[in-house]
Amino acid sequence: MNNKYYGTLIFELSKAGRKGYSLPRNNHKALGLDTLPENLLRVSKPELPEVDELTVVRHYTNMSNNNFGVDTGFYPLGSCTMKYNPKINEEVCALPQFARLHPLQPVSTVQGALEAYYTVQKMLSSIAGLSEFTLNPFAGAHGELTGMMILRAYHDSRGDHERRRIIVPDSAHGTNPASAAIAGFQVVQVKSRQDGTVDIDDLRPLLDSSVAGMMMTNPNTLGIFERNCAEIAQLVHEAGGLMYYDGANLNPMLGVARPGDMGFDIMHINLHKTFSTPHGGGGPGSGPVGVRKGLEKFLPNPRVVKNDDGSFDVVSDNPDAIGSISTFMGNYGVVLRALAYLLTLGRENIKKVGPLATLNANYVKESLRKDYLLPIDGTCMHEFVFDGLADKSTGVTTLDVAKRLLDYGFHAPTIYFPLLFHEAMMIEPTENESIETLDAFIEVMKRIAKESADEPDLVKSAPHSTPVRRLDDTLAALKPIVTFAELKANPNQE
Ligand SMILES: *Cc1c(COP(=O)(O)O)cnc(C)c1O
Repeated sequence: MNNKYYGTLIFELSKAGRKGYSLPRNNHKALGLDTLPENLLRVSKPELPEVDELTVVRHYTNMSNNNFGVDTGFYPLGSCTMKYNPKINEEVCALPQFARLHPLQPVSTVQGALEAYYTVQKMLSSIAGLSEFTLNPFAGAHGELTGMMILRAYHDSRGDHERRRIIVPDSAHGTNPASAAIAGFQVVQVKSRQDGTVDIDDLRPLLDSSVAGMMMTNPNTLGIFERNCAEIAQLVHEAGGLMYYDGANLNPMLGVARPGDMGFDIMHINLHKTFSTPHGGGGPGSGPVGVRKGLEKFLPNPRVVKNDDGSFDVVSDNPDAIGSISTFMGNYGVVLRALAYLLTLGRENIKKVGPLATLNANYVKESLRKDYLLPIDGTCMHEFVFDGLADKSTGVTTLDVAKRLLDYGFHAPTIYFPLLFHEAMMIEPTENESIETLDAFIEVMKRIAKESADEPDLVKSAPHSTPVRRLDDTLAALKPIVTFAELKANPNQE
């Protein structure tokens, strides 16, 4: 423990009688009451910490310094894309005109808010090359589920009830098979080739009248562009299935290609990955779902539409809709942040996102390929995967490298995913990082490779400078210590 504030609770700093506030006495008089009603009175005093203002401020400020976040350092986590949360986004969504709205207000009083929402629906449609978008889903996986339900509704509407199989590549994000299964489909895996792309020879025999559709990520989760996706889409369509595009990390495509033009019928985009809205810790996120022409009627209720007179409305009673998948219209504040970002970039700059994300990833990859094992050669898109250190004789694992990075002030990349490689290390710098930051990361990664050869124990015992040392993940999962009393009883188990 390097930080003396680590592990101290605000309750432990309490000293009887200390105060950091003053409230007017006898507040109930202001309400016209002599005393508070009996049933509202406390039986015992609240157990609140009694601390002065400086102690409170220092306690929480120091505690926040034990955290790592996008505002404190580089975050090369792969398959998570945007690690940039522009401050102007926060200002926009905190405007009282937005923040103080109530979802049950009459639509005539929220025309501006609906216009903002409608604008995002339209912008995503034009970015994706699809007909209509719903912004209701709360996350990427929630969008996938919504998409799968639409896919199912499409087949059911044609009386095609036997189509119950969804094809998913073995490199797919784990949420893909999970979403398909929750929507009632049977998941069939298709293999990847040596170069990381879908093996069409393995796909062909799977395409029969039981296929409802196929889910693809392009570039896939290995950061490889699926060159044959037009041919794959054609094969799946010929078999009567629909194509689903996992656009969680759409940034490498922005300004380069549109899923609608690649033959996809349904897709989701993660606003919290592609369009700079914050993510982590489980939310709040947003996973809008888009569909090609002909599938719009299946989109969930409610939808925001524009009337002929230019006003906006909320439609909640479309009978063909898959139903409702969210409370009201999703995470409105997240949608607003994405709108602020889209408008910040504008039509011109959004075209630079894909090329810059690709350039940055390739720059890091090429700079480190002597020190780390690159299992798939060639140009990557927004991210790439190393299979641990190039020199396997050191005994230093990907986990060790990830832990050592923390000592140098960098967040670790995604590790041990995708499952195709034993020592996977998935790195995604994104379009927003400066060359100085990328160079600093490259230098540290090289230094760790050298340390692994010279002093492997130093790396294997990392981290050395973080508030807590290497945690026992297994023990933490099997015997979690979730209360302060338990922690005090087990002082050695961090
Ligand atoms: C993150 C991610 C998802 C899931 O998104 P959540 O918002 O975490 O549910 C799906 N697919 C891919 C490729 C992803 O990177």
